[in-house]
Amino acid sequence: MTDIVVLGSTNMDLVAYVEKAPQRGETVTGREFRTIPGGKGANQAIAAARAGGAVSMIGAVGNDAFGSRLRSCLETSGVDTGHLRTTEGPSGTAHIVVDDEGGNAIVVVPGANGTVDHLLPGDESLIASAGSLLLQLEIPLAAVVAGARAARAHGVRTILTPAPARPLPPDLLDATDLLLPNEHEAAALTGLTDPRQAATALLERVPEVVVTLGAAGSLYAARGAEPLTVPAPRVTAVDSTGAGDTFAGALAVALGEGRPVRAALEWAAAAASLSVQRPGASASMPHRSEIEARYA
Ligand code: ATP
Repeated sequence: MTDIVVLGSTNMDLVAYVEKAPQRGETVTGREFRTIPGGKGANQAIAAARAGGAVSMIGAVGNDAFGSRLRSCLETSGVDTGHLRTTEGPSGTAHIVVDDEGGNAIVVVPGANGTVDHLLPGDESLIASAGSLLLQLEIPLAAVVAGARAARAHGVRTILTPAPARPLPPDLLDATDLLLPNEHEAAALTGLTDPRQAATALLERVPEVVVTLGAAGSLYAARGAEPLTVPAPRVTAVDSTGAGDTFAGALAVALGEGRPVRAALEWAAAAASLSVQRPGASASMPHRSEIEARYA
C-alpha cells in the first residue's frame, strides 16, 4: 500500500568546492568534487520513506549513469520507483560551485525532468491510492497541475512546496490543501515579508499554510483558527541543505498517521533538526528511529 506519492524532480548535484568562484573567462582549480543525488522531489521521497512512509515516486531519470544511480539511491531508501520513467537523454543535473565562504553559484539543467509534463497511464491510479501527494515546482507546471487535480478528484491530500519560487496558477492553488513555503517563498508569493501576514494572505487561496522559518521553526495557519508557531529544537547546524525537504517528507508521514497538527509539526521539526546536524541533503536525512528518539 502507498501512503505517499511524490511527483517531482530527480537531479544529480555535481559539486565543485573551490577557494574562490571563477569570474567570466577565468579558470580556477577546485579542491574537491562530489556527485550527490538530489532534486526536491527525490529528496522529499527519501525523507518520507526514511521517516516511515510507504512512498512511491513519479518522475523521470535519463538513460545515463546518473539515472541508474538516482534510481538506486531512491530504492536503497525504500522508495518504490515503479512509476519513475527512464527517458532517452541525460538525467537532470545541478552544476554547483561552492566557495570557501560557503557561497554558491548553481546552474540547473532539467534533462529528464523536463519530459515530465503529463501523467502517464497508471500514475493517476497510483495517486488515487495514496493518502497524500507531495509536489514541488522543479518539473513542468502542467504535470504539477495534473497531479494536484488527480489527487483532488480522489480526495487525496495535496502538499505543495512552491520552490523554486514562481507565480502559481489559480488551478494549482485551487487543488492545493496545504501550501508549504519557506519564508522567502512566502514573501515572493505575496509581496509580504512578515511570515504571519504572508500566511494570512495565502489563506485566501488555500485552506492550510505552513511557513518554515529555518532555526526559528515553523508557522501554521488555517482558515478560521489562530496561527500557531512551533519552535525548532536548538541544535548546532553544520549544513542546512535539504532541511526543508526533510521537513516536508516527515510532515506528510506524521499527518498521514493522524497526528494532530502541532504534534506533526514538532515531529517534522525533530526530523529536520537532525538533518541540519549532518552534511549533505539526502545523505543527512534521518531514519524513523532517530526521529522518535529526538521527539521523545
Ligand atoms: P533548505 O532550502 O535549506 O532545504 P528551506 O529554506 O526550504 O531549507 P528552512 O525554513 O530553512 O527551509 O528549514 C526547514 C525546517 O528545518 C525548519 O522549519 C526547521 O524545523 C528546520 N531547521 C532549519 N534550520 C535549522 C536549524 N539551524 N536548527 C534547527 N532546525 C532547523
